Amino acid sequence: MNSNDIKTVKSLLNTSKSIVIVPHKNPDGDAMGSTLALCKYLNSQGHNATVVAPNEYPHFLKWLPGHEDVIIYNATTKAAIEKIERADLIFTLDFNHLSRTGDMEQALTKASADFIMIDHHQQPADYAVVTYSDTSMSSTCEMVYHFLDALGVADHIDADIASCLYTGIMTDTGSFRFPSTTAVTHKVIAELITAGADNAGIHRNIYDTNSYTKLQLLGVALQNLQILPEYKTAYITLSQKELDDHKFQKGDTEGFVNYGLSLEGIIFAVIFIENKSEGIIKMSLRSVGDFSVNEFARAHYEGGGHTNAAGGKSDLSLEDTVTQFISILPRYKDKL
Ligand code: 5GP
Ligand code: MN
Repeated sequence: MNSNDIKTVKSLLNTSKSIVIVPHKNPDGDAMGSTLALCKYLNSQGHNATVVAPNEYPHFLKWLPGHEDVIIYNATTKAAIEKIERADLIFTLDFNHLSRTGDMEQALTKASADFIMIDHHQQPADYAVVTYSDTSMSSTCEMVYHFLDALGVADHIDADIASCLYTGIMTDTGSFRFPSTTAVTHKVIAELITAGADNAGIHRNIYDTNSYTKLQLLGVALQNLQILPEYKTAYITLSQKELDDHKFQKGDTEGFVNYGLSLEGIIFAVIFIENKSEGIIKMSLRSVGDFSVNEFARAHYEGGGHTNAAGGKSDLSLEDTVTQFISILPRYKDKL
């Protein structure tokens, strides 16, 4: 953040404000960790801050400090809209365009509040009075740490805030293994453990709370894994029936796509997940190296994200989506 932005933020937070903090739709560890951390800090300073999420978040995040107070827009829409209408200030965290909030976009567009964006995705939209965007950052949680540090209040990070921030850095870096993990990331992590983040406990909460049916679903996903060696590509499909047969809960398929990338010689992996209620095939795309899944998802699947991790969707059937995907690959032969 430049010194002008820091000045603007300080003056916006100078008096007690009604504040709404928004993560993206289908919030992940980074989105929930960053919003809850910022929320706790702002409330400790006398503001009236609330996290309003577009929809539900995975069960493995339902231990994060403060999560009980999150308002879910698509479950309690009236309460969410009231909060947004009354807000003086709206922070949008871990996304780059208001359309990433799904149906909530309309309410946010109408809001009279000032916006502050903190995000690490590419191509940030221009709706905020302060846009703290840095695509080189490991996670929005790391950015919230730098944000608080820039305001001179890093010493206000208590064990709860530290746990939230640790969670998002851990999940967005694949437990500190992606190239976005820098020496500074590790220094921030060290500060968070010093502030009281229980690193071993957080890893257990996130990764070791699987249900039996989720592991069985992983088995199905691995059986469905297909390899296209010519394009160094692997993909997985999961139909609505396969999800239903395994009592699918939100978050159960998190990380499945990475198994494709773990294959030797594979640099592009995709998972196609049927969502009958939304009438779409939701896709997660991953790559290693220079092949940009952000560009691929933008070009073909109304999506986006980062160079090596992106999402998108298709309105075709599961079968047709896969056929169409395979038909696109020859155009990328020189990049794969
Ligand atoms: P995931 O595959 O884990 O859902 O998401 C990977 C990355 O892509 C995340 O940074 C996420 O925010 C982003 N992403 C996921 N779905 C979409 C989408 O539909 N549109 C855009 N623009 N980004 C997405
Ligand atoms: Mn993120």
